[in-house]
Amino acid sequence: MRSDIHVCGDWRVAHDRPVYTLGDTCPECGADAVNSAPAPFDPTDRYGEYRRALKRRERQ
Ligand SMILES: [Zn+2]
Repeated sequence: MRSDIHVCGDWRVAHDRPVYTLGDTCPECGADAVNSAPAPFDPTDRYGEYRRALKRRERQ
């Protein structure tokens, strides 16, 4: 199910917490807002780098 709710793509850098918007850009910093539905942002996503490394390995 798609959601029209977007979240600031740079919120981890620009804000203390996710900034949600219905528009395409963050209302606070102007960064691109990304769809928040497919991958809920987890501030403690310490496996992100591991998953990316795994994908790189699969391509080789
Ligand atoms: Zn922002």
